[in-house]
Amino acid sequence: IDDAFAGGVLAASGALAGTRRDARTASVSCVVPALNEARSLRILLPMLIVLLRDVFARWEIIVVDDGSTDDTPVFMSEFCQREERVRYLQLSRNFGKESALTAGLELAQGDVVITLDADLQHPPALIPRLIAQWEQGADMVYAVREARDDERLVKRIGAQLFYFMMKGTGKVRIEPDACDFRLMDRKVVDALCQLPERTRFMKGLYAWVGFRTEAVHYQPHERRFGKSSFSLLRLVTHGLEGLTSFTTWPLRVAMFGGVLLASLAILYGLYVIFEYMMIGNPVRGYSTLIVAQVFLAGIILIALGMIGEYVAHIYEEVKQRPLFIVNQTYGNGLAQAASPA
Ligand code: UDP
Ligand code: MG
Repeated sequence: IDDAFAGGVLAASGALAGTRRDARTASVSCVVPALNEARSLRILLPMLIVLLRDVFARWEIIVVDDGSTDDTPVFMSEFCQREERVRYLQLSRNFGKESALTAGLELAQGDVVITLDADLQHPPALIPRLIAQWEQGADMVYAVREARDDERLVKRIGAQLFYFMMKGTGKVRIEPDACDFRLMDRKVVDALCQLPERTRFMKGLYAWVGFRTEAVHYQPHERRFGKSSFSLLRLVTHGLEGLTSFTTWPLRVAMFGGVLLASLAILYGLYVIFEYMMIGNPVRGYSTLIVAQVFLAGIILIALGMIGEYVAHIYEEVKQRPLFIVNQTYGNGLAQAASPA
């Protein structure tokens, strides 16, 4: 009797989590960030709708337009008229994928939220497998790419190096190769939306909030239309941002490096004095001097730059600007389904 009562109360308050998880009674929100993806959306949305109708009683799709310059707004306004469960959120300019994702997560109302790319690289067919994991108790389920064959060698080596450096935190473990194709329980989404920081390094934030997390492997598709908006330079910048917003070890490296170099210098100084006193060699070495000088200047500049990265972060945070500005929205999503009118 106790169990039945608890279940009743929780279901009434809309908090499914923790008790019985059933895709047929849960509501789901799909969040799709899109930058100039009109051609892909034309294919993706109908596919997604068919799938969601099949699995869920209540669902919504939120397309976050991150400042597209193609005919995404026109297409979406038409599409939302036909399908009121589809919501369109147009940001006032390009704020970057991380901000677009945050915007979508804040708007999502489902008990379960699924994020996926608009470019058809994240196959919707995987969603039932994500759901199955959630029904078995996982709070967050992320998709892992089986192969990175589609990417150039530089990109792959860069990714390896990045994840190696990110390990330095010790506190949170960021899953290599995990992508932004994920399912999150309502409590995870609430936790993410509470985080106040401006620099949204989503992969790190997902790991930071914790909860029971499971992985699902999949074979990525190649991009059908257009090309990736993440150039090598943008990836490096993004990586640096992640590194400096989730780790502080680079600051310590500068300090320990300084201690090490200073110690070596003292030892060498003692040796030079010893050599002069005992053997009588004159102090020499114009070239060693130059090399040491330039080497040290380089180290100092790197350390300064590193500190600069952190200072820039602090600057971004204290400005307290909103993460995104909404231009207009169409459609109602779950909000419509909830109200009888
Ligand atoms: N995207 C976005 N804002 C951006 C860049 C990308 O909303 O500034 C979207 C894009 O439309 C796509 C997803 O983020 O749906 C992933 O982008 P992309 O395919 O370029 O990245 P990759 O798959 O190479 O990581
Ligand atoms: Mg892509």
